[in-house]
Amino acid sequence: MIGAGVSGMSAACALAEAGFRVQLVERRGYLGGRASSYPHPGVHEVIDNCQHALFGCCTNLRGFYRRLGVEEKIHWTSEMTMIEPGGRRSLLGPSCLPAPLHDFPRLLSAHAFTLADKLALARAFSSLLRPIPADSTESLGDWLRRRHQTEGALQRFWRLVIASALNADIDTIALPYAAMVIRGLFMNSAEAGSMGMSTVPLSELYAGVAEFLQARVGSLLLNTPVEGAAWDEDAAQWTIHTRDGELTSDSMILALPFEATQKLLPRLPVEDGTEKLARQIERFEHWPICSVHLWFDREITELEHAVLLDRQIHWMYNQSRLQTGRGGHYIELVISASRSFAALERKAAIELALTELAEFFPRVKEAKLEKFALVKEMRATFGVPPGIDSARPTAISPWPNCFLAGDWTATGWPSTMESAARSGHLAAKALSLAAGEQLHCLEPDLKPQGLMRWMRR
Ligand SMILES: Cc1cc2nc3c(=O)[nH]c(=O)nc-3n(C[C@H](O)[C@H](O)[C@H](O)COP(=O)(O)OP(=O)(O)OC[C@H]3O[C@@H](n4cnc5c(N)ncnc54)[C@H](O)[C@@H]3O)c2cc1C
Repeated sequence: MIGAGVSGMSAACALAEAGFRVQLVERRGYLGGRASSYPHPGVHEVIDNCQHALFGCCTNLRGFYRRLGVEEKIHWTSEMTMIEPGGRRSLLGPSCLPAPLHDFPRLLSAHAFTLADKLALARAFSSLLRPIPADSTESLGDWLRRRHQTEGALQRFWRLVIASALNADIDTIALPYAAMVIRGLFMNSAEAGSMGMSTVPLSELYAGVAEFLQARVGSLLLNTPVEGAAWDEDAAQWTIHTRDGELTSDSMILALPFEATQKLLPRLPVEDGTEKLARQIERFEHWPICSVHLWFDREITELEHAVLLDRQIHWMYNQSRLQTGRGGHYIELVISASRSFAALERKAAIELALTELAEFFPRVKEAKLEKFALVKEMRATFGVPPGIDSARPTAISPWPNCFLAGDWTATGWPSTMESAARSGHLAAKALSLAAGEQLHCLEPDLKPQGLMRWMRR
């Protein structure tokens, strides 16, 4: 298994549990890839590379956490506070009405939307009850314009939700992906839309992976970049070239981001299909996410988290309240789909973040900023524009006994931890089938509830 992000770890643990002898090989000195934490040298604190939220509908990620025994380290909430500049708040969350109406009462009473916004949203939501063809080439932006969405609905709902969940702009998102996300978060059931946040730094969630593998005669190799691999047809074996030597294996899973897979391609055997894979990878595009980490001398809000409207910052997470054992007054701000914010110099970025934060939480003006960190992840996620599905390869690779995983492979999900966990389980299943076994590690989707049980997708 090459790569110990969520995709590699979930595949490794599922295979090890089924009795396969797994070596998990990772370039870095820690686990988690794009969803990890590390000691930040500037602030002397362990921080996540960014707050990572999951949702009830992330069944494969939850399955991975369950396998590791860390599911209880996820804090779940169904309520979301939206704050306007100036501080006016609207609380969203489920009611006792059946799905898909459960979120409607609070949405209808939300100050953040005018009556025209609410009618526009109701119009778009009712259109989403009808099936959306999986091969639709329409962007979400065009689809919304055809449904006459108001500026308020576009700005305070669609752009915000799509930036948060898909890390992109509405005009660059394929309609089927947007529909899947909106149905999952707001329509299928209250459970599917509930939001989960880790109560420990992300890498702590995976602290048990090495032990899990070792207890099942597997192993974990950190600080071991893979530089190429060769297939021996006679021995039916892979020789994997790492910076520090060679490893051998009957099978191999490449659980890498698309750009690392692309880099490795010239150092893998040439087979029918390698050229096609190279062309598919060229169609992927990165989107950045930035996070600003602030430590104040006092509490600036009692909220655990909030959505911030009409400004560059999208989310506030009160990490001192969310993470157990975290002292001080630590606030993390997240700016998704943030190409313009990512272009700012460090000083300008922090000043902008503080100015915007004070518009929502006036206590910021009296508080003293003790330390801060800025994390720019330029390769955070990939976009899912119309037509991207034809570029997403399945777990079956062009090479014998080699399988592909990674959030960018054909999972049907956008670039998320769920897509990564799903891809890991799909690759583990494909590997087990090739080895003559059938591994049932792919977790089923949550069933839609209420009236959604009778809606066609
Ligand atoms: C800032 C940010 C915020 C995000 N927010 C969210 C969120 O809120 N919710 C959500 O669901 N998702 C979020 N994501 C997306 C999520 O983190 C990714 O989709 C997911 O972690 C991808 O996992 P992966 O295993 O596919 O790839 P990766 O995490 O990239 O893992 C690949 C691993 O392979 C290793 N590797 C690379 N090359 C080699 C090599 N040659 N040899 C050995 N190892 C190698 C890498 O070091 C890495 O550990 C966010 C991502 C970022 C960056």
